[in-house]
Amino acid sequence: MEKVDVIIIGAGIAGITTAYYLQKNFPKLHYKIIESRSDLGGTWDQMIFPGVRSDSDMYTYGFSFNPWQGSIIGQGADIKKYLVDTAEKFGIKQHILFNTRVSSLNWADHQWTTQTKDISYTSNHVICCTGSRDYRSANFPKFEGEHLYQGKIVHTQDWGNEDFKNKHVAIIGSGCTAVTMTPAIVDQAKSVTLIQRSPAWIINVDSQEKSSRFYKTFETIFDYFYSRAFKKFYKKKIIAKYSYYDHTNVPSYNFWDQRPACSLDNDYFNSVNLDKVSVEHQGISHWETTGLKLNNGKIIHSDLTIMATGLNAQLLGGIDIFVDEKKINLNDTSWYRGMMFSGIPNLFAHTGYINFSWTARCEIVSQRICRTLQYMGKKNLVSCVPKYIGKKSEPAIEANYVLRSMDKFPNRTYKFNNANYLFEYISFKWTRINDGALTFK
Ligand SMILES: Cc1cc2nc3c(=O)[nH]c(=O)nc-3n(C[C@H](O)[C@H](O)[C@H](O)COP(=O)(O)OP(=O)(O)OC[C@H]3O[C@@H](n4cnc5c(N)ncnc54)[C@H](O)[C@@H]3O)c2cc1C
Repeated sequence: MEKVDVIIIGAGIAGITTAYYLQKNFPKLHYKIIESRSDLGGTWDQMIFPGVRSDSDMYTYGFSFNPWQGSIIGQGADIKKYLVDTAEKFGIKQHILFNTRVSSLNWADHQWTTQTKDISYTSNHVICCTGSRDYRSANFPKFEGEHLYQGKIVHTQDWGNEDFKNKHVAIIGSGCTAVTMTPAIVDQAKSVTLIQRSPAWIINVDSQEKSSRFYKTFETIFDYFYSRAFKKFYKKKIIAKYSYYDHTNVPSYNFWDQRPACSLDNDYFNSVNLDKVSVEHQGISHWETTGLKLNNGKIIHSDLTIMATGLNAQLLGGIDIFVDEKKINLNDTSWYRGMMFSGIPNLFAHTGYINFSWTARCEIVSQRICRTLQYMGKKNLVSCVPKYIGKKSEPAIEANYVLRSMDKFPNRTYKFNNANYLFEYISFKWTRINDGALTFK
């Protein structure tokens, strides 16, 4: 069994950010990153479907300590390269143990034991940078008669090297993935049919836009609160701006009930105007041998059906957590500042914003973790655990993946505001570590 000071699990944006701030604040600290994939990047290593790109602007999605140099929206492969370059530039890559999945974490005698198939580590602290998604199982809606369908079905999360050239393609889903994928495949596909229950809110971004991290932070947050405060007015404003919307084509939910998708240089809006692209706003009844039958009786013939149907939320990478031999059910805990859980000592975890760049939260959480470790070091403390306090958890956003996963999240939250970066920025940086919600030993 190897002993280190800190174990980081996951080598995506959160893992890289955490490692950067740990190194900066504790140059002598011995840490290890354990990653189940064969390369770093997390989401940006796994997501390789055509058109994959960021929805956030890269001024805020890039690291503040290594600003992004490309255009305002990052393409998936470029983001992956940027993450690899960042990890190499700051000497982080050499700390990563690849192809190793953590199966369980056990807290006993004031230390963690991290268990993988071949090796285990002990450490004082564990930082979970495992993302918010079940990597091994995406959301795959089931319709009757799937075995009859003679075409191919693929989920965007498990994209291989699917051939869509000269094929009739159906895409199920209306979110960010469907919106970015459609323009990326439309030239080569024979036809593309988008099947969606409701259209999504989509905004256009100009790829040539130049801005700054500071401006984009305030603009994004202002836009979010403005659209929530004046829901009807904002809806009207968007409908008036884009000819894509008319009285028959309006999302069934309010702007920002779900994360809006982004079209780049009008690529999505131009694609749906092509003759070979059609959009069906209908539920699906069942599979046929040649495609899908919609609730209105129409059959959509396809050679390839793409599930752009999103993810299954998962916290802490599906790892079994034991505290003094008792298995923890996260649904019985309180989520302290969206970075720790009641009853689980010395374990930190990252999650992102619903309305702002994920990276921005990873940075402030990493800094708060470092401040907590400094505080514990100064006072000679061995453990720190949040109390079970706070208010009942509410869905942060009306997105389906959140609604269907509420029983996997903590049932209480304390000082966690995942819609307000500015509030958290101030609170994380300038409030006391011993804020009354933590018990130290
Ligand atoms: C297509 C797409 C576009 C997106 N665009 C944006 C955007 O524009 N803006 C935004 O803010 N967010 C966006 N997101 C959300 C995105 O997931 C986050 O921005 C961010 O990449 C998450 O980083 P992370 O490091 O926290 O987690 P991840 O990138 O999910 O990385 C987690 C890592 O942990 C590893 N891991 C998990 N469990 C274990 C285990 N048990 N043992 C070992 N390793 C484990 C995984 O293999 C993975 O490498 C997007 C997501 C997708 C899918």
